[in-house]
This record gives sequence, structure tokens and C-alpha cells, in this order.
Amino acid sequence: MVHFIGAGPGDPELLTIRGKRLIDEADVIIYAGSLVNPAVLKDAKKDAKIYNSASMHLEEVIQVLKEAEEQGKQAVRVHTGDPAVYGAHREQMDALDRLGIAYDVIPGVSSFLATAAVLKKEYTLPGVSQTVILTRMEGRTPMPEKEKLVDLAKHQATMVIFLSVGQMEELAGQLMTAYPPETPVAVVYKATWEDQKIVTGCLADIARKVKEAGITKTALTVVGNFLGSEYELSKLYDKHFTHEFRKGIS
Ligand code: SAH
Repeated sequence: MVHFIGAGPGDPELLTIRGKRLIDEADVIIYAGSLVNPAVLKDAKKDAKIYNSASMHLEEVIQVLKEAEEQGKQAVRVHTGDPAVYGAHREQMDALDRLGIAYDVIPGVSSFLATAAVLKKEYTLPGVSQTVILTRMEGRTPMPEKEKLVDLAKHQATMVIFLSVGQMEELAGQLMTAYPPETPVAVVYKATWEDQKIVTGCLADIARKVKEAGITKTALTVVGNFLGSEYELSKLYDKHFTHEFRKGIS
């Protein structure tokens, strides 16, 4: 049985208890060295074989997992954040399916949730936005025709943009086709790592500020009025609102 593990955003204490146990018990560990904090592996077995997937292609990753399985060794595949978000995860699961190798998935704290935590914000503010769009800009991997940033921006929902901080000027430009230029933006570099950086601004000035801060990768851009200070109080905790677990005061 192979375990796919979400390693969380960086801080090794943000790993699930199960994820940590399986890493610590593993004989073979493949991790995404470019983004997974090596501190997540600090209690691995002394003789565990550790592979950095940054220099491996898909077939090599699968080959290592297959050999481990054949030798009765316990293998874990450690992804940054949660494997379900830009993790190139599905293709690995499908390859294991074809080989008849069983696996399970232990979720992790995605960087988009760690980003809200370090900003101390809520993505879904009543009366502001109740929808969160996770997306990225078109880069070397194209975007599906129906998911162009300019179309997604029309909703003016909370937007979380992965993988695109290197193209900040173009990103802000495309968003300003729909959001007003004064819409607040935050860019969080390496959320929860020791060298985390936060840059805040609005669509009109964020590209300049990000450039000044020298941020070119490993950052998320979050956009929307959820970063502002105006919103409605929630109905859930409204004292006049009755729901299943509490009677409202009339
Ligand atoms: N599966 C990961 C995302 C992998 S794609 C997750 O759930 O977070 C890699 C992109 O994620 C990076 O380019 C960056 O945009 C973002 N990212 C990953 N870790 C980050 C962190 N600690 N802080 C900010 N952004 C991060």
C-alpha cells in the first residue's frame, strides 16, 4: 500500500498526525523537494531511502513506488499542501491502478488555507463573497478555453491564484478588466515558513510592490473585498436567527 500524503504548506507542525506517523514509519519516501519543507522528514527512519521528485519524471516515480511494493517496503509520496490542488496527483494514482498497487490519500493543509490563516482573513464573508475560485494563469500549461482569467474575474468572487506570481503585471491587468483597480490584493510568499513574506495592496499597485519585495515564486495571490473591512454579520451566530441547534430570541 502506497500512501500519498499532503505535507501542508511548510511549517512541519501543520502536518496531520497520520501523515507524520506514515512518514516516520516509511522505508521509501518520495517528496517534492522544491516545495516540501525538509523538516517534515526530520523523524524519518535513519535507513529510509529518500528521493526528491524534483529531478524525476512520472515513470521514475512510479518505478520507485513499484519496486518498494515488490520488496514489501512501505512507500510514501509526499506532496506540498494537499495533493488534490495542482499536485499532478491523479496521473500517479491512475498509474498505480494500472499496476494493481493499492494506495490511499492523507490530505494536507493546502497553501490557500494557510494563506487565509496567516492573513487572518475569511474567504467567504456574508454580503461580500460566498464563492472561492482557485485558479492559475495561463503559463506553459494552457488554461481550458472556458476558464480564462478574464472570464472568471467577472464573478468578482474571492480569487486565489496559484503558480502565477512571476507574471504579476499581466495577472493584475487581466483582473482589472472586471474588478475595480482599488480591489484589495494580498500576495503571500511561503506562507508559514520562517521566511514568509506578505505584501498587500490593490490591483493597481500590487505588481510594483511584489517586484519591490523581490517575490518571483512560491507565492499565492488572493484578491477580493474579503480583504476589506465591510461585511454583514453571519446569520449563524445572529441572536435573532433560529436554527437546528439554537432558538432565536424574538
Ligand atoms: N498542492 C499545493 C499546491 C502546489 S502548486 C497546495 O495545496 O498548496 C505550487 C504553488 O502553490 C506555488 O507556485 C504557490 O503558488 C503555491 N504555494 C505552495 N506552497 C505555498 C506556500 N507555503 N505559500 C504560498 N504559496 C504556496
